[in-house]
Amino acid sequence: MFSYSGNDFYCEQVPLADLARRVGTPAYVYSSQSILDNFRAYDEALSGLPHSVCYAVKANSSLAILSILAKAGAGFDIVSAGELYRVIQAGGDPSKVVFSGVGKSADEVEYALANGIHSFNCESESELELIDALARRRGVKAGFSIRVNPDVDAATHPYISTGLSEHKFGIDIREAADVYERSQRFLNLSAEGVSCHIGSQILDPSPLLVALQKLIAMAKDLCALGFPINHLDLGGGLGIAYHHGEKTPEIRSFIESMNASLKESGLAVIVEPGRSIVGAAGALLTRVLYRKRNGAKEFIVVDAGMNDLIRPSLYRAHHEVVPVRRNSLPLVMADVVGPICESGDFMARDRLMANAMPGDYLAVCTAGAYGFVLSSNYNSRTRAPEVLVEGDRWRIIRRRETFEDLVRGEST
Ligand SMILES: *Cc1c(COP(=O)(O)O)cnc(C)c1O
Repeated sequence: MFSYSGNDFYCEQVPLADLARRVGTPAYVYSSQSILDNFRAYDEALSGLPHSVCYAVKANSSLAILSILAKAGAGFDIVSAGELYRVIQAGGDPSKVVFSGVGKSADEVEYALANGIHSFNCESESELELIDALARRRGVKAGFSIRVNPDVDAATHPYISTGLSEHKFGIDIREAADVYERSQRFLNLSAEGVSCHIGSQILDPSPLLVALQKLIAMAKDLCALGFPINHLDLGGGLGIAYHHGEKTPEIRSFIESMNASLKESGLAVIVEPGRSIVGAAGALLTRVLYRKRNGAKEFIVVDAGMNDLIRPSLYRAHHEVVPVRRNSLPLVMADVVGPICESGDFMARDRLMANAMPGDYLAVCTAGAYGFVLSSNYNSRTRAPEVLVEGDRWRIIRRRETFEDLVRGEST
């Protein structure tokens, strides 16, 4: 949904140069069509099975985006009570929410029980004990899955790989059966599923297929033992193209490759995609402030920093940086750097790219997931606004922060 028409870069039918002039920079911009298309790719590929596409809120938790997905029928995968609050504010249905995460606090569990979420994805026996106690106090029965760690290597960045037994996530699949067994003493819990999530930005889906087979086998055993297992939760993790022209798994065909096994299992399916729904649907617009050269290095200094988009600094992530209006100058080898007082503050390094001059706008592509949500006020910078494009119209879904926002809640 981001493309050139002539020399101008568009989001759907909105020319981004106009938009950047109107709202200022830095600014995030999202294509609503792209978000919906990605959601529907999952939803339609699973249409032959009982299923729920639970969007992983942590990828981008802005209310307008949650609202688009809620209206399209999405459920939500949350990792905190704050995310559940956002889902509710956005009109999402708590009964379609699964609560993941290795460190849920008692307050968070209370809040989730009070709002009647669908299921907890549990990661330790002590967590089961806590949820049981709080459910008993409320006089309710809480559905849970154990997030098993299937010990498969998702072959992605070490910070976002989670499925090996050395990681903090889940319960080792070899011990999970015993934990289900022992969970029978928790009378206010109901073992309704088996879940996993092996990592993020997965480009080769074969480890996901291995994990699926392990999950199905485990669910079958549990059903045979009399547990009321009714769903499999496969987590999220499908990768997207950060490099121009990169080959990535296609949502529809990836899901369809699992359909036969899923159907045969007779269980309902939950998936928890985050990045693959919103990642490619967003870009960060920024303006070139200065050009400078230090020794052999050429720098393009822009007004977006690592406080706005930390992925290049944190994960060495690659984002294409393209001109919002193409010029005819020869390409340049440069670093695109922000205004933050850190050498690690860069959007791109040693990049052969458009020869952008002061005043020109650039788009940092594929910034819709783990972009704004990881932004901060570091260096006392106000956080960027977010804009949602729908066809030839756009609207601000989060205004740019002000100086008052910067000190809200503080006292001298
Ligand atoms: C982060 C996360 C997801 C979403 O991962 P993506 O790579 O964004 O699809 C899904 N489930 C759980 C438990 C997660 O922690």
